[in-house]
Amino acid sequence: MRSLKQIKNLKDKKVLVRVDFNVPIKNGKVFNDFKIKKALPTIKFLQQKGAEVILISHLGKDGTESMKPVADCLKKYIKKNITLLDNIRKFPGEVKNDLNFAKKLAKLGDIYVNDAFSVSHRIHVSIVGLPKYLPSYAGFQLEEEIKNLSKVFKKTKHPFLCIAGGAKFSTKIPLIRKYLRSADCVFVGGALSNNFLKAQGYEIGKSLVDDTNYNFKEILKNGKLILPEDVVVKSGNRLINKRVDKIKKDEIILDIGSKTTKNLVRLVEKSKFILWNGPLGKYESSGAKSTEKILKLVASSKTESIIGGGDIVALVSQMKLENKFSFVSTGGGAMLDFLATGTLPGIKALG
Ligand code: ADP
Ligand code: MG
Repeated sequence: MRSLKQIKNLKDKKVLVRVDFNVPIKNGKVFNDFKIKKALPTIKFLQQKGAEVILISHLGKDGTESMKPVADCLKKYIKKNITLLDNIRKFPGEVKNDLNFAKKLAKLGDIYVNDAFSVSHRIHVSIVGLPKYLPSYAGFQLEEEIKNLSKVFKKTKHPFLCIAGGAKFSTKIPLIRKYLRSADCVFVGGALSNNFLKAQGYEIGKSLVDDTNYNFKEILKNGKLILPEDVVVKSGNRLINKRVDKIKKDEIILDIGSKTTKNLVRLVEKSKFILWNGPLGKYESSGAKSTEKILKLVASSKTESIIGGGDIVALVSQMKLENKFSFVSTGGGAMLDFLATGTLPGIKALG
């Protein structure tokens, strides 16, 4: 992979930069501009070297959203002339990785830069198609993600604690499998743990669960796996802390319990390296307590910590803790795929 700094002459070159400006929008305004700020070093570097920057991003899943709020927000940070293309997913060729579309798009620039780590697991034109037709480079943010996340494969300190939470079981089970091998302990919370508790024969009431058969019996036998021993359930209108063998049919698990949280505090305090993906509870509705407590603890400790996942990073950002971890990844699915496989289609495409 070539770095931006290796480009000899950028003067008057048109540089197509794939960024991830898929930011939350509320009332026509960017609600959280963490991702926009992360792309600024690459954009500013290119502009300082005299390049003409053309930004490419998607917003929302289906390409119907306007980039206008993003453009308004970008103006606050970039004073020079800059082009922001329309929502790239408006073009049906993008997600189909239509190479004719890639060729056409490539004509807009002289050089391609990928600075969108969080989209680099997608086989889309703006990620893997464009680099087929243009000299291609990695942006600073992409480099930073790779450098930091690669620490997990190389020189991790031990005890190494992996914390897995959130809900998307299918995307997180490879992570759990892999880190049951390399980490010293894998703590599973959030809706993910409902799947394991159910498989162990516990009643989980009306809690969120993924009923696909993933065949994870061997995971349950692994001594490094740590599951909640108590949880906070919603019972009617009340929130009750109870042991996992006491859950009733009409109750819903919202968070890990107080005893489990205490155990996790102890684990965190013992660890030298923490990799954390996904919230430990339904943080949007009464289930944020344990995640907030553990986030504050990790943030205030000297332990090396890498944290990622769309939802948990949103929470980190709400709590203004972005700078308190060794590294906060912009990638959700991309981070999971990278951590499970060591590369991504968008990274390979630059090679
Ligand atoms: P991330 O984006 O951080 O990787 P996910 O997308 O996998 O995390 O999951 C985040 C979602 O998981 C949030 O909407 C959160 O409310 C939900 N969640 C976590 N724990 C529970 C739970 N016990 N019950 C229902 N939803 C949960
Ligand atoms: Mg998410």
